[in-house]
Amino acid sequence: MTGPTPTELVAAVPGLAPYLRPATLLHPYAATPDPQASRIGGPALWPAGEPWPHCTAGHLVDEYREVPAADRAIWEGIDRALHERARAGGDPHVLTADEAAERRRIMDGGSLDLIGWRTHRTVPEQPAAGCALVPLVHLRAEDAPHLPWPEGTDRLQVLWCPDDHRDLPNTRHYYGPNVELHWQRGTDLAPTVPPAPRRSAERYLPTPCAVRPKQIVDLPDQDELPAELHDAAEEFAQRYGLEYHRALSCAEGWKLGGWPSWHSTDLVPVDCGCGARMVHLLTVDSGLDPGVSVGRFAELHVFVCPVDLGHPVGLDLQ
Ligand SMILES: [Zn+2]
Ligand SMILES: [Zn+2]
Repeated sequence: MTGPTPTELVAAVPGLAPYLRPATLLHPYAATPDPQASRIGGPALWPAGEPWPHCTAGHLVDEYREVPAADRAIWEGIDRALHERARAGGDPHVLTADEAAERRRIMDGGSLDLIGWRTHRTVPEQPAAGCALVPLVHLRAEDAPHLPWPEGTDRLQVLWCPDDHRDLPNTRHYYGPNVELHWQRGTDLAPTVPPAPRRSAERYLPTPCAVRPKQIVDLPDQDELPAELHDAAEEFAQRYGLEYHRALSCAEGWKLGGWPSWHSTDLVPVDCGCGARMVHLLTVDSGLDPGVSVGRFAELHVFVCPVDLGHPVGLDLQ
């Protein structure tokens, strides 16, 4: 690695010092992980006698519905009206307010297949049923000592429900896996074989990976800085032919602590139901050896509540 580090940038722009946060890059690589080591996926450990956790958030299922003959006639009538208006020199794509309302009613929040004449939408599964979580990250405290380890704990297990969810707590416009954090004590954990998840998407099942944890310091995205500090940081980066984003901030990859990148939506503050501004805990990256893919080959950011780690995590896709 050549080029300056975030620490050197902070020496040149001291106003950034309060923004410097410790982080750990996991650098996962496909290998059979040691069950006692930090890892992604791989063998499960759980406190003996305690049940393996299940996701109880609502799951979504596909629903297809035939379009009734009367609605099909209305849809085709609108098509004919559009053609006639186009022949008279009108725009063939502009619907009247009534036509648009009828089409929205027929589609009923879903999409319409005009060959099979059926609508498709995702709806809550009925009856709601739990789904076994799968191990995502197993972390030893010494590999990321900067995390807010509760007294007496030395292991963090990140489990997720490998299915898509909407409307989870502390999320906005989110569609993806449900995540749970379990702060535990290594001496309490024993090997276990978790039940298979009842529903899962292949892209949410990680290939077991060992990790080479590296502790770094990280700086925030431009959106989280006052403009004059970002300008100074950018000017410093350009002296080395770099961009502040990613080269000196928002380090990329599977990451614990540090700062999230807001490259696709701009900053969307993640606030807990209790009112506290949540703090970035984990970035799940798409691709690489674990082979998971979140969003559109994106990053999943997991946030925790600084007031109470027991509050539901915040989730954001970038
Ligand atoms: Zn679930
Ligand atoms: Zn909270």
